[in-house]
Amino acid sequence: MYYEEKPKGDIKPYIGKELHCKTWDAEAALRMLMNNLSPDVALEPNELIVYGGSGRAARNWREYNRIVRALKNLDPDETLCVQSGKPVYIAKTHEEAPRVIIANSNIVPRWSTQENFNKYDEMGLIMYGQMTAGSWIYIGTQGIQQGTYETYAAAAKKFGSMKGKLVLTAGMGNMSGAQPLAATMNEGVIIDVEVIEERIKKRIEQKSCDKMTHSIDEAINWALEAKKKGVPLSIGLVGNAAEVHPELVKRGIIPDFVTDQTPAHDIYQYIPIGDLKEVLKLREENPEEYKRRALESIKKHVNAILEMQKRGAIVFDYGNNLRERAEEAGVEIKDKNGKFKYPGFVPAYIRPLFCEGRGPFRWAVLSGDPNDIYKIDEALLKLFPDDKVLARWLKLAKERVPFEGLPSRVCWLGYGDRAKAGIMINNMVADEEIKAPVVIGRDHLDCGSVASPYRETEDMRDGSDAIADWPLLNFALNTMCGASWVSFHNGGGVGIGRSLHAGFVIVADGTKKREKRLERVLTVDPGIGIARHVDAGYEKAVKTAKEKNVKIPD
Ligand code: NAD
Repeated sequence: MYYEEKPKGDIKPYIGKELHCKTWDAEAALRMLMNNLSPDVALEPNELIVYGGSGRAARNWREYNRIVRALKNLDPDETLCVQSGKPVYIAKTHEEAPRVIIANSNIVPRWSTQENFNKYDEMGLIMYGQMTAGSWIYIGTQGIQQGTYETYAAAAKKFGSMKGKLVLTAGMGNMSGAQPLAATMNEGVIIDVEVIEERIKKRIEQKSCDKMTHSIDEAINWALEAKKKGVPLSIGLVGNAAEVHPELVKRGIIPDFVTDQTPAHDIYQYIPIGDLKEVLKLREENPEEYKRRALESIKKHVNAILEMQKRGAIVFDYGNNLRERAEEAGVEIKDKNGKFKYPGFVPAYIRPLFCEGRGPFRWAVLSGDPNDIYKIDEALLKLFPDDKVLARWLKLAKERVPFEGLPSRVCWLGYGDRAKAGIMINNMVADEEIKAPVVIGRDHLDCGSVASPYRETEDMRDGSDAIADWPLLNFALNTMCGASWVSFHNGGGVGIGRSLHAGFVIVADGTKKREKRLERVLTVDPGIGIARHVDAGYEKAVKTAKEKNVKIPD
């Protein structure tokens, strides 16, 4: 990690109007890299780990410093190439080209296993970038907050709302930490089981989780009382899901909803039953034995989930590949037809939104001033006066979602609206209504930017789950249309070899010239997503394409 080369003190993004680079695009990339690593954002800043188990923003501290130097000196017609968190080439390109292109964790398909990745990682050749960590557009838990809120709302639709219902989940890390607030925003009660006490404490301090306990009895009592009264309550239970879940089954406590966000996509990040210090030591000293014990724990964890499902709980996988791990551990997780016994959250709740080109669109203000976010919120409400979902979310977000690092906002906007919003923000920068440029991007979990058969593209209507041409087309389109930086990764969400996905960021710098690039990028990016769903045979996508004039060849 070259710890000795880590800059002294905490990493904090520059804020305000003063440039440290030659262009706003390079400046924005630098600030977002720093933002990913600032202590109020990153999961383990010293290790350069941002979120999602081991998702890093740079390979090590030496390469971090080299990236910073390269960005500060980058000419307006140059492009920095970053290979798995290491700057490798400064290409002479042109002013409208991306200033940075990033490729993370990509391995030739036949070699693309976690074991090979670990070997290359030890050889110092590669880095796991998760999705938004290695592509420098992570914005803290808020990035996933709206998606989690919407997913819980969709799951609860059959009851009208989550009021008086109990959710059981595990994991309260960076992404998984969005779950307590998502449940209470939907008026529900949640028990979120987390091994590491500090992770729960952080959410209590942020006021996004209400209560913490080490006692399963106390958690059950609190939950049942709140459920009876129909009042929202989030409970962080310090414990291991592999112990807590079977115990709940034994006591006949069957939640209404069960899901999970432990980092099971990487077996070495899932924490097995045992003394925490001892198991973490075991991981260092004997990874094989650690893996065996993690799989053993997953077996107990998932068997309890399946039992809860049998007894009436609604169960969905939350994009962490727990089901495949359970299969590896010997759990009978598939039915007679070879289908997982419980669905992933995308086919269950999110795909209809993808068919409209909707997804986790987001922006961060480089001024560092929260008021700039509030001004954009207000302007958006005026731009889309009929969008009730947007209005409800913006109100809740302002009241209840804390900023982490640079003030930012996520909104699930669709095709057409993203471009309108981008141009509006650019005009606000131009008119100095807000104090500095704004970065606009999205998660890689989006309609046309990912191939991930156990998550975003699970159970596609035409069977095209594993076809990865789509994210490559997306990556190329965003590059040629003039994003500020673009990225292509392997393994986000579900682990190495199981997904390929593309990201982009574009800076609204307030210039007239930028308007065209914003319009192009923010149109083609969801455009290829609609095309992907038209091609797979989704009626809703066909309808959206017709209504919005998305050109599909005859
Ligand atoms: P994280 O590493 O920040 O947090 C995971 C937490 O789980 C940690 O705090 C860890 O202590 C805890 N944990 C591990 N094993 C446990 C166990 N056996 N019992 C209880 N707690 C345990 O990771 P994250 O960013 O929160 O992501 C979690 C998972 O969700 C990852 O697999 C990620 O890929 C996936 N994910 C899904 C989505 C989505 O949209 N559905 C989005 C982001 C991440």
